[in-house]
Amino acid sequence: MQTTYDEEIRLLVDGEWTLGTSGKSSDLYNPATGEVIGSVPHASTGDLDHALDATAKAFKVWKNTTPAERGAILNRAAELMEKDIDRIARILTMEGGKTLSESKWELTFAIESLRWYAEEGRRAYGRVVPGRILSHRQLVLKEPVGPSAAFAAWNYPSSNVIRKIGGGLAAGCSIILKPAEETPGTAIAMARCFIKAGLPAGVLQIVFGVPAEISNYLLASPVIKKISFTGSTAVGKLLQTQAAQTLKRCTLELGGHAPAIVNHDADLEKSVATLATLKFRNAGQACVSPTRFYVHENVYNEVVRLFSERASKLRVGSGLEDGIEMGPMIAQRQRERIHGMVEDAIGKGSSLALGGRPMDGKGYFFQPTVISDLAPDARIQTEEPFAPVASFMPFRTVDEAIERANATSYGLGSFVFTRDAEFAHRCEAELEVGMVGVNNTMLSTPETPFGGINESGYGHEGGIEGVDAYQRTKTVSELFY
Ligand code: NAD
Repeated sequence: MQTTYDEEIRLLVDGEWTLGTSGKSSDLYNPATGEVIGSVPHASTGDLDHALDATAKAFKVWKNTTPAERGAILNRAAELMEKDIDRIARILTMEGGKTLSESKWELTFAIESLRWYAEEGRRAYGRVVPGRILSHRQLVLKEPVGPSAAFAAWNYPSSNVIRKIGGGLAAGCSIILKPAEETPGTAIAMARCFIKAGLPAGVLQIVFGVPAEISNYLLASPVIKKISFTGSTAVGKLLQTQAAQTLKRCTLELGGHAPAIVNHDADLEKSVATLATLKFRNAGQACVSPTRFYVHENVYNEVVRLFSERASKLRVGSGLEDGIEMGPMIAQRQRERIHGMVEDAIGKGSSLALGGRPMDGKGYFFQPTVISDLAPDARIQTEEPFAPVASFMPFRTVDEAIERANATSYGLGSFVFTRDAEFAHRCEAELEVGMVGVNNTMLSTPETPFGGINESGYGHEGGIEGVDAYQRTKTVSELFY
């Protein structure tokens, strides 16, 4: 197995791979070892001006390319990504920490999403509305919104990126992408596929730097008409405020704190297996990761026991090694943060059923952790853990489960496990979230819209909504005498 980091990290500006002109860079770490594996060049304001100029020019080219031609290029890029999947998966694992099989699964999803967008871009139908007088035609046209800026998070470095640029490119937008500085190589490896597939220069550009400096600069520019951001709620609010100055459209995919409600009639073994698999995927660093487990009091002890037993058997280690089921957290700061949150919960009277501590040795590993009887005033009740930590609480009635599940400012994913259709329908209708999984956790497919409400943001990626997010509507009233 090759274990060297096999990608050159560059900016992509106006069709050229470049180190930029700032002379500045930041180190890239492998979270499984804490070792430096690369250097990420930072764009200067001159580089950003160049990229803004190029994106404006490229937009004119790309929007005048037919949707079928655009789709053909995206499909070719998807094919090239598929051919290079083993190499890209290793890059993803080395910079992001997840296991190789998770990286391949994520890349497969990204490729499928790209193919979906390639097709869906051809269906920018608009509509014809009957006129008020004969020979009067009213047309509703869909147009690309314009040059866009996309800011992706590190936790899903391929699917996060493709969900943004796939929708934008399919709609006919040019895009300046700032992938996460923690996971630059995955985006670069994928961008190489787009260039090889024939994407014109400047249509997709990549910049890195100090995130706030890059977003300040790009958001102040009138060239950029739309932003799409995946990351924390705090940063999302900041970007929306900045975007307001030039009235840019926003798609904000922000944090989550997903409730998982397990009723007494659920298939307990299956529910626990399904929820534990999602919980510990990417070491819990997923925005739809189940975090607050509400279990009916009649089966509460049994579910906590089954879940802890399963979590205790997880093989934790470097994602490059065979048989590993959970990798490290992305950085020391994230590991310290969750350790503090677990200590806070225990200090306030919650019980620790499993784990609770950073693991000894190299890298940023944290023990799979199960907290039971989570204290009502524990920080983890309201703050997103984003870590391999599951907190359990018993409930008695459906009303109580729904009320407690809704007691957070977030509203992204949620899960319900029950055989009782009435119980499920109450949850589907009353949970304050963007997505509900009933007896399954498949909230993310290329064909369906993914997104949240309340402080989890707004707008969607995936589904027809994922293309629509990059389109604007023009009404034409036509009358010929
Ligand atoms: P973060 O918001 O600090 O960072 C997320 C990404 O945003 C990083 O790539 C970072 O470089 C970038 N960023 C930070 N400040 C920025 C700024 N001022 N301008 C532009 N980009 C900026 O959050 P984090 O703690 O690193 O990431 C985890 C958060 O992301 C969690 O809250 C998680 O729920 C959220 N997230 C949401 C989704 C979703 O689809 N809803 C997906 C993944 C992650």
